[in-house]
Amino acid sequence: MLSRKYSAYYHTMTDGTVKQTNPFNGTEVWSIPGRGNKPLTNAIPVTAKRISGGTADHSCIFCQHQYTRIAPEKSRLVSNGSRHEILYYLMPDQIEQQQAEFRRVGNMFEIVTADYWRKNYKYEHPATVDQWRTSYLKHPTGLPHIQSIAMYKLMQGGMTEEQAESILRSGRNSVFDGFFGGCHDLIIGRRHYAEGAEYDTQLCSSGELTPEEHFRYFTITIDTMRDMLETNPYIRYISVFQNWLRSAGASVDHLHKQVCALDEWGATVTGKVQMALQDPNVFNELGTNLASQHNLIFAQNDHAVAFVGIGHRFPTIEIYSASAACRPFQLSREELRGFSDLVHACHAALGSGLSCNEEWYYTPMDAVYTMPWHIELKWRVNVQAGFEGGTGIHINPVLPADFRTMLVERLDALRSAGKLGDCSIVDGCLNTPQPLQYWRRT
Ligand SMILES: [Zn+2]
Repeated sequence: MLSRKYSAYYHTMTDGTVKQTNPFNGTEVWSIPGRGNKPLTNAIPVTAKRISGGTADHSCIFCQHQYTRIAPEKSRLVSNGSRHEILYYLMPDQIEQQQAEFRRVGNMFEIVTADYWRKNYKYEHPATVDQWRTSYLKHPTGLPHIQSIAMYKLMQGGMTEEQAESILRSGRNSVFDGFFGGCHDLIIGRRHYAEGAEYDTQLCSSGELTPEEHFRYFTITIDTMRDMLETNPYIRYISVFQNWLRSAGASVDHLHKQVCALDEWGATVTGKVQMALQDPNVFNELGTNLASQHNLIFAQNDHAVAFVGIGHRFPTIEIYSASAACRPFQLSREELRGFSDLVHACHAALGSGLSCNEEWYYTPMDAVYTMPWHIELKWRVNVQAGFEGGTGIHINPVLPADFRTMLVERLDALRSAGKLGDCSIVDGCLNTPQPLQYWRRT
């Protein structure tokens, strides 16, 4: 593809209105001056309640020591001094032996269910999973745990207590399948509240982790993807996302990611792969280079670039891995650490008080037209209204340049406080275009 006109995607009117068209999906967005700039702040609201040590430990079903309220642990990441390792298929008596830094459990309310894979593809769980399930259910506290969460799941699905008990008594235990062998998992962080929190609004978001903890959070998430791919041959894409706070779709205000395997790519990824087919360099050209031409780049390191995205309904940060590897589990340790550091810095800059979606995009397993691994952080500060529905024009209340300035100010403060990993603040544009190397890989 020959050079495109960058002004077609981003145009500032005389009154300051910025008209944008998303280069990858055509979404039309206006940002109008004076529609409101939410301050980037972690200030404590007056309605916040003080927390005590006990409360900090037992706040929700994802908190430490609430292990029996959710599915059993498929894996956990633990620290042994400076060493970290992932333990698999934990038994009930291992749960309290060692503190888990991150835990992987089956989502009790899967989007794509264990039944879906079994009935549509005749997918059978690997022997290791079946052995774990058998041993777990034989353990004195294993069966009561699984029965109790199965009861909860069935009753949440609309059954009465009697109906749910009748199912469990009948031995029709397919309801257990997703707990052990499903392909929609949660990765749960250790802390509910931020380190040193005094109020119940000081939650531990991705940005409240240290850069090292955030790297390990990525590590176990990617290990989960690898494990699913090794065990389920019908997977064509794995959706990875994080909903932070209830208005972003989270059911629990405790840091967690979701890893959900799919048997297709989905429309968004298909559209992006089609663009890569037509123009292999499109993610440099309409991603980083376009943002650089409009001075929207704000952070970079040797392995990643971060900028304010163009044409999004919500104020959105896009972070691209610069690696030639184009799937998360193909990056080297250094590349992954660099990318993680930049994503962490962006979360820290957004703060923990406002809702945010994190969405991962990368080259599907069975695609030969490559796209770089990139992550979008969508800051849910606005609500879509009738104007958007009626016109197809979306109002994003934050001007892209203002958003960039806010992020830079916050990153400066965080860097001074020593809270960031490898993150250089960039003053709008790249020194040289073409930072992404993904197109070298075929
Ligand atoms: Zn919690």
